[in-house]
Amino acid sequence: MADQLFKILVIRPGSTASFLNDPHFTVPFRARILGQFNDLVAKASQNDRVRAGFVFVMCTEYDPPAKKEDSQASPTLFWARLVQEKIPNLKGLLADLAPHMQPDKAIRQLSATGEGGVGAIADDGSWKVAFASTTAFENQLGMGRDSQERLGEAGRQLGGLVCHELGHSMGCADRPGNSLMNPVSIIDLDEPGKSLWSNGRFAEADIATMVATLNKVAEAVTKKDGAKAGATQSGPARSEPSKTGAKTGTK
Ligand SMILES: [Zn+2]
Repeated sequence: MADQLFKILVIRPGSTASFLNDPHFTVPFRARILGQFNDLVAKASQNDRVRAGFVFVMCTEYDPPAKKEDSQASPTLFWARLVQEKIPNLKGLLADLAPHMQPDKAIRQLSATGEGGVGAIADDGSWKVAFASTTAFENQLGMGRDSQERLGEAGRQLGGLVCHELGHSMGCADRPGNSLMNPVSIIDLDEPGKSLWSNGRFAEADIATMVATLNKVAEAVTKKDGAKAGATQSGPARSEPSKTGAKTGTK
């Protein structure tokens, strides 16, 4: 199998005393996201580098991957930031991480009366963002009822919301109906069978949209890699335009 070119990076708030750090939450959360993106989306592509699927990484906002990765510049990285609605610097955070979006509109979408998150990609793919609010989950957890089942259901439901926002960041629009791109779903940890976030899947048309986005990125990266390899082997690249700043030589 080809190496995985793409990565999904989930960045959570830094607090360690959170359900977001509990394996009863994190294991089903990860499985929910990769079940959609690796088993459905990636497998629908004819491109081997897309078919290889996504690496999944989850870290806090203070961990090295959150700082080191330049999410605005890496076309193969799809990040999703988990945020609390009530943090004092939410507007500043959104303005910092998503300078192309209107912060007030994003905050409305993140709220309980909105879809609970916000995600988008530039027409030319030059930036992409995905945010999901944890507030509705926090409101239902931490009431002395945090059984493994409820934490697991939180993992599946928040995982589904993250899938929806990542879907936007791979080019999908909201799609009212019974698929994961439906803009709103109930969040109720005591009603596991009723949430679209818990058990819905992407519609075929949205899978096709995401595959087209990923194929384009994979083709561009492969072409760039090929140009570099050609330059290393035989001096100036054949018909490629200038490779300003590209490193040649050792791998
Ligand atoms: Zn949406």
